[in-house]
Amino acid sequence: MYRGTKIRPFEEKVWLSSPTMHGDELKYIQRAYETNWMSTVGENIDEVERQIAKKIGVKYAVALSSGTAALHLAVKLAGVKPKEKVFCSDMTFDATVNPVVYEGGIPIFIDTEYDTWNMDPVALEKAFEIYPDVRTVVIAHLYGTPGKIDEIKAVCDKYGAIIIEDAAESLGATYKGQETGSFGSFNCISFNGNKIITGSAGGCLLTNDLEVAEKVRKWSTQARENANWYQHEELGYNYRMSNVIAGVVRGQIPYLEEHIAAKKKIYDRYKEGLEGLPVSMNPFDSKNSNPNFWISCIIIDKEAMCPHVRGECNALYNAEKGKSCPTEILDVLHALNAEGRPIWKPMHMQPIYRMNPFVTMNGNGRARTNAYIYGKSIDVGMDIFDRGLCLPSDNKMNTIVQDKIIEVVKACFK
Ligand SMILES: *Cc1c(COP(=O)(O)O)cnc(C)c1O
Repeated sequence: MYRGTKIRPFEEKVWLSSPTMHGDELKYIQRAYETNWMSTVGENIDEVERQIAKKIGVKYAVALSSGTAALHLAVKLAGVKPKEKVFCSDMTFDATVNPVVYEGGIPIFIDTEYDTWNMDPVALEKAFEIYPDVRTVVIAHLYGTPGKIDEIKAVCDKYGAIIIEDAAESLGATYKGQETGSFGSFNCISFNGNKIITGSAGGCLLTNDLEVAEKVRKWSTQARENANWYQHEELGYNYRMSNVIAGVVRGQIPYLEEHIAAKKKIYDRYKEGLEGLPVSMNPFDSKNSNPNFWISCIIIDKEAMCPHVRGECNALYNAEKGKSCPTEILDVLHALNAEGRPIWKPMHMQPIYRMNPFVTMNGNGRARTNAYIYGKSIDVGMDIFDRGLCLPSDNKMNTIVQDKIIEVVKACFK
């Protein structure tokens, strides 16, 4: 169907990353139903909190309605005040950053490094030189790959800042043997439908501080005081996880390692299958970290990029012999009935955050517009967004299907 390949579109769509269910989920949902614990209290919630805290190696996990809710409460716990500046990962999903704005804070974006595609500790240090008063740093582990945690922690310690860790994409990934979601003061994971395990929705806030855990439990259930009537001294939220959702999560937790193993196989098969092409996989520190391989990505060598431009909501390219670009590959995957996706567009390029300060390693630390000239990537995040893409990474994709995907990606470079 494409550049000489004879592959026909898949009858069943291959997803980027869809829920992989096992049956145990139904058992726990049913138990919630039969015991009538259909609200935000119950055994499933208790078990999710116990098992997740144990798995991550933190003292407390508080089950919430979403990862975003967990991040929001983390930002509140950090005490972020209106107009307060907060350093944030730049190349991430916007849920990492939005909660800062919910509290009136101002996200300052820190550019990305090429080694793990996460926050660049060198740019972070530069940011502290420009804004020495910043007290809070929000870091994400993109696509399940741990960032340079030691280096980032060292910079934060030097400037007396605390870390909020967004481990929504990296559940089960480790850095020097320790689980992501255990490095910051207030940490978050997500059970959204596309994540490595799911509750259909949901998330947890993770902490080692009992007082913090109790505060989050209280805030997430409308901040009720201990009285006979509804008594409120603080602003509350309806952020608690439902015991039905917790049943789904509870059924999934025993399969986390199996999901990670399947994702790793997918990553390794792409890596091997795409060898010889002018592309490389999303990188990780093989000495210090074990990613969860949530999404397999590639980045195209600069010399092998055909001309392409992206506007706000569309893209154009010129196909060229021996070259390709993310837009072409994504078009071809779409024609194959497989879901790829561009790299998460960096926050400093987003219309909503374009005027926020952005700090790059060699930049001047000033706000920057989205003016983009082909062939001139100005910062690391923009460059990875320009040349990278996410490949179909669904655990239910079999090797025959994956090999066809590999073949059409190869064909794009013919
Ligand atoms: C999915 C995701 C979130 C948000 O989690 P939800 O449970 O969907 O609210 C936050 N940060 C990152 C990096 C994510 O990928």
